[in-house]
Amino acid sequence: MAETAPSSDQLQERLAEVRRKIDGSAQRAGRDKAEIKLVAVSKTHPVDIIRRAIEAGISDLGENRVQEADAKIQKIGHERARWHLIGHLQTNKARRAVMLFDVIHSLDSVSLAHRLDRLCGETERATLPVLIQVDLGGEETKSGANETELPELIKIVKECRHLELIGLMTLPPFFEDAELVRPYFRRLRRLRDELSARNAFNVATGELSMGMSHDYEVAIEEGATIVRVGTAIFGKRKAIAEN
Ligand SMILES: *Cc1c(COP(=O)(O)O)cnc(C)c1O
Repeated sequence: MAETAPSSDQLQERLAEVRRKIDGSAQRAGRDKAEIKLVAVSKTHPVDIIRRAIEAGISDLGENRVQEADAKIQKIGHERARWHLIGHLQTNKARRAVMLFDVIHSLDSVSLAHRLDRLCGETERATLPVLIQVDLGGEETKSGANETELPELIKIVKECRHLELIGLMTLPPFFEDAELVRPYFRRLRRLRDELSARNAFNVATGELSMGMSHDYEVAIEEGATIVRVGTAIFGKRKAIAEN
């Protein structure tokens, strides 16, 4: 059985705890906490709970499936929340994704870049902020562009009129011990720095979307500017809905 839905008080407490840890990690790393954005990953959680999270101060929501997000976004809208697509985007869902999401974190191929750009044109969307998902672990089950594919992909994205490349995202292999994830975060940061030096990004230094419930503190120490936190805010998801 899944645990019962969190009350507003519980959400507020968990959120305060997450923010405290974000601030602590930023401080340890000598960083300004204002440069770290919290995306609350609401996948599998129903609209009423997401509304409560917004009441508690959440402004950015992460979803990994277009279809699931569609119903939620229709009900909640964009006025009080920005919606981030953090999961793999299937070709046949791309049009809907362009119409629904404020930011896409999972751009991983040249063909998807071309498609998103074309769909922006067709749907009269002027700009779509995207992050390139980088596969650092070489795991077959995970999507993302390889490091070797990055230069070509970035070149293509920069040629796309409507796409705004704002940073890199990664979903590293899972290790119980978050310290073991640190090298992956460090690697993504190095990549970001190298690319940034070559003006690859449309925003100043380029965002680093990395860190989840069990490792966001380490990610922040390594430079994360966006952390994607689900379980630590909303509680455990039902097993069936796990990605
Ligand atoms: C589900 C998910 C998260 C959040 O995971 P938690 O462990 O619940 O914090 C972050 N990023 C991606 C890409 C996800 O699919």
